[in-house]
Amino acid sequence: MMPTVHCPKCNREEEMDKVLTAHSNQNVMYRCPHCAYSKSQIQTSKG
Ligand SMILES: [Zn+2]
Repeated sequence: MMPTVHCPKCNREEEMDKVLTAHSNQNVMYRCPHCAYSKSQIQTSKG
């Protein structure tokens, strides 16, 4: 089961796999497909 993330701007919920893009081990970018809100360097608690 994929964990979900709430967009801080439009508050929509999307699967983490769809909105988070990992560029490297500790550089993850969040991008909302609904409002195009983007934020870099998301901290992940995985691992
Ligand atoms: Zn959004």
